[in-house]
Amino acid sequence: MMSVEEAREAILARFHSLPGELAPLTASVGRVLAEDAVAPEDLPSFANSAMDGYAVRASDTTGADQGHPRRLTLAGEVPAGSVYPGELRPGEAIRILTGAPIPTGADSVVEQELTAVDDATVWIQAAVSPGSNIRVAGDDVPLGTLLLRRGVDLGPVEGALLAALGLDPVPVTRRPRVAILATGDELAEPGRALRPGQIRDSNSVYLAAAVARAGAEPWLLGIARDSADDLRAHLNAAAKADLILTSGGVSVGTYDLVKQVLVEQGSVELWRVRMRPGKPLAFGTYGRTPLFGLPGNPVSSAVTFEIFARPAIRQMLGCAEIERPLVEVELGGTAIPRIDRRHFVRARLSARDGRLIATPTGAQGSHRIASLLGASALLVIHEGTGVVEAGALVPALLLVDAAWGGG
Ligand code: AMP
Ligand code: MG
Repeated sequence: MMSVEEAREAILARFHSLPGELAPLTASVGRVLAEDAVAPEDLPSFANSAMDGYAVRASDTTGADQGHPRRLTLAGEVPAGSVYPGELRPGEAIRILTGAPIPTGADSVVEQELTAVDDATVWIQAAVSPGSNIRVAGDDVPLGTLLLRRGVDLGPVEGALLAALGLDPVPVTRRPRVAILATGDELAEPGRALRPGQIRDSNSVYLAAAVARAGAEPWLLGIARDSADDLRAHLNAAAKADLILTSGGVSVGTYDLVKQVLVEQGSVELWRVRMRPGKPLAFGTYGRTPLFGLPGNPVSSAVTFEIFARPAIRQMLGCAEIERPLVEVELGGTAIPRIDRRHFVRARLSARDGRLIATPTGAQGSHRIASLLGASALLVIHEGTGVVEAGALVPALLLVDAAWGGG
């Protein structure tokens, strides 16, 4: 049986970044940048006013104050979106609105609150220095700046920067298509009435949502019965997938057919990992398509997806950071005994006096879907003997979907 690290190494070596494609900017947020983005121009692209006020020559305001205002001639106006057609001459002021280009000849802006206007006369009540209230070209992002590295998750901020710089369409990696197949004679679709002994397929719903959150495209293949023929028929329909996830049918029972079908139609690269939950995980290929045979128990399926399939999907997406953030948290609640397998404990995080406290979500049986509810972290309890006492610091994978690091 492999350790979690050995299994991850063997699995992740099989996944590579998919090619890039151009997507409209508005559709690229939530995807992963496929090429470095370099600023093709200055942002802002021209010097403009930071205030509503008057564009002037700073030398025309020397010595001005409230008691001794300087008198300038109002020569015109420049609102945002237009360009002043002439040039500011000595002794003149031009009314300017926030964001409007600075007229030729002006070197500063006096904010409206420090002026008084009387027909064609502007009284300047404060001295300004050159550059006052001007946003110079490139002061946000200079031309040629490496703005975003490839592999970054595009969120709202990245989208806004790409928009401001006119980078539309955007090169993003192709979304992997991830086929999802439930297996088991006992399974029914969630909306159907159950026959005696049947249960509802909850894994497919979990996996489809988790695949979408990981940035890939879920493709539901339904439920295969516990027969090699039905399993093959369903898997053959997934030939165009980049990855296949099955759940169930990988333990040691008589009806555990996934491994058998992989052996016949592809390969089994690993089966069984020293972890709880999730020991019976299988990984291999069906035809040429990589396939995770996730365990059937809902918690095992969810945790093995997290630990193995999500990083694999992020690798296909070309993400610079494929991992969840790993942080140290303080164990709340009761002590956790160490076992001879890596134990991933679902826990709820809360902040107390500036520390992150992790409280396990209750009984951790791998059939208990409710133990996943509200879990914001997976505590990583390493193999060994003895117990991890309450109050001890333990590593935890943060189950958050905000972008972090890597950028
Ligand atoms: P198996 O590995 O096929 O023996 O399944 C282990 C356990 O998980 C059994 O109790 C199954 O009924 C359950 N199970 C398998 N697939 C699913 C599914 N798609 N949704 C919910 N439970 C499942
Ligand atoms: Mg089964």
